[in-house]
Amino acid sequence: MPLTIVIKIGTSSLTQDNGNLAIATIATLVETLCHLRRQGHRVVLVSSGAVGVGCARIGLQEKPKTIAGKQAVAAIGQGRLMRVYDDLFTTQEQAIAQILLTRTDLVQRRRYLNASNTFQELFRLGVIPIVNENDTVAVEELKFGDNDTLSAMVASLVEADWLFLLTDVEHLYSADPRSHPDATPIHLVERMEELAELQVETGGAGTGWGTGGMETKIHAARIATSAGVRTVITSSTAPANIEKILAGEPLGTHFAPHKSVSSARKRWIAHGLIPAGKLYLDSGAVTAICDKNKSLLAAGITAVDGDFHHDDAVVLCDREGREVARGLVNYTSTELQKIRGIKSADIPTILGYEGAETVVHRDNLVLS
Ligand code: GLU
Repeated sequence: MPLTIVIKIGTSSLTQDNGNLAIATIATLVETLCHLRRQGHRVVLVSSGAVGVGCARIGLQEKPKTIAGKQAVAAIGQGRLMRVYDDLFTTQEQAIAQILLTRTDLVQRRRYLNASNTFQELFRLGVIPIVNENDTVAVEELKFGDNDTLSAMVASLVEADWLFLLTDVEHLYSADPRSHPDATPIHLVERMEELAELQVETGGAGTGWGTGGMETKIHAARIATSAGVRTVITSSTAPANIEKILAGEPLGTHFAPHKSVSSARKRWIAHGLIPAGKLYLDSGAVTAICDKNKSLLAAGITAVDGDFHHDDAVVLCDREGREVARGLVNYTSTELQKIRGIKSADIPTILGYEGAETVVHRDNLVLS
């Protein structure tokens, strides 16, 4: 059966210590992806490297510190990177496409659907899309930030069966194996809570060139598995392992999918959107939305935080500020300041016009 497979590779795997490209790794990766394509699978590559390659191209020893500097080197490196991919894929007679995304592209529903249609069309044409963040235009507050997160969102967008996060270790370990020789490898994570139970130390940021680390990989696994995508962390030095894993060999660390968020639209609400505010709820409202699958009404809101418009995403919290859900709101923050704690029947009198019946309708609400 044809599968949809997203594979993410980071800068530290794509480059050597001196900043030059790790051609052998990239060539093996390309062969593996072409092989998967020939078996009829739909394949997406999420590749970092624009910043690293851009720096190497103009002889910089480290990443620029300023935003404009990073955006400039990404612009230099992205074309170079695609040139290398295109040359290698062409040797295998495989067409590729470049897709550069910013978070805004997945925040607005219409752009999200457009992006989704483009992927589907490329699959239909037998092309392998190569995705990166559109670093040259992405503004700081609207960045995915790291390509692990981007790859998880793409996996959710294309409703992938598998997400492979290729990195410089074979597994996720109980601690950083470089500093803790007794760290044990983890083979399967059935539920994300197990990581806390195992007290897995994920460490902080990754290498100087990329931005990831284990933390962002686990965050990515959380997003992908909740979208029903089986996620695997495995070594980038043997891309051929991807095929072995698909054939059932127990390599890498697997995160079991659990599709807690059923529809693509709800997954977009849960992970695609950037919340513009927070609503604090009384305990009755928390029970109604969490246990009874009800919509949120104005009466259950105790406080409103942020400045938002109709249809913006908001976080719903209990009185203590713990997130319980996310959703699209039917009122602006200004309106909600006036009608919080008020019975629905009294809203028209207070606002002077008929508003929506619910503040967040249950169809637009996703439990956290
Ligand atoms: N988009 C960045 C690049 O291509 C990499 C982000 C990351 O390392 O996760 O250089």
